Amino acid sequence: MLFVFSAPSGSGKTTIVREILKLHTEFIFSVSATTRTKRENETDGKDYMFITKEDFLQKIESGDFIEYELIYDNNYYGTLKSGVDSCLKQNKKVLFDIDVKGSLAIKKLYGDKAVLIFINPPDKDSVRKRLEKRGSETPETLEIRMKRFDFEMEKKEEFDYVVNNDDITKAVYESNKIILKYI
Ligand code: 5GP
Repeated sequence: MLFVFSAPSGSGKTTIVREILKLHTEFIFSVSATTRTKRENETDGKDYMFITKEDFLQKIESGDFIEYELIYDNNYYGTLKSGVDSCLKQNKKVLFDIDVKGSLAIKKLYGDKAVLIFINPPDKDSVRKRLEKRGSETPETLEIRMKRFDFEMEKKEEFDYVVNNDDITKAVYESNKIILKYI
């Protein structure tokens, strides 16, 4: 099974995914490749594979990605075929934290094997506050992320499940309840 989490940036999705991984230590997190700069609290190879744009474009050429996106106008993010295929061969469950378009691409490829979960933030303002509090964005990159918010929210109808995140503990509980139906 592939459990795919998506949400607008700043909705608490990554926190939820981390909590789910603590509950299911046998799950494998799909480490995406990205060209964005590493944040202070991130580890290369664990949170992302941080690679250069040149490397990323080379991997696109070689057909190494299941899906990839140019997000926020300037950064590439992509799921590598090799990681996912080897997990599936070993019958391992894989957790994804990717954008809405990437999630829908995974669904198209893997059908019923992929369970799509959309983390629904209370409103746009709470997302902005969360991003400000996180301190990872400049005023410009924060605005770029906010601009994408409406587009991402519109896609939630296409997901298998929508989990409200007004309260992180409840959202983890609800997400886990969904996962438990499949394992
Ligand atoms: P961030 O820069 O905040 O880590 O991620 C920005 C967005 O890119 C988030 O919505 C995140 O889930 C998404 N993302 C991360 N990895 C991938 C990937 O491999 N493919 C796609 N399509 N989106 C990704």
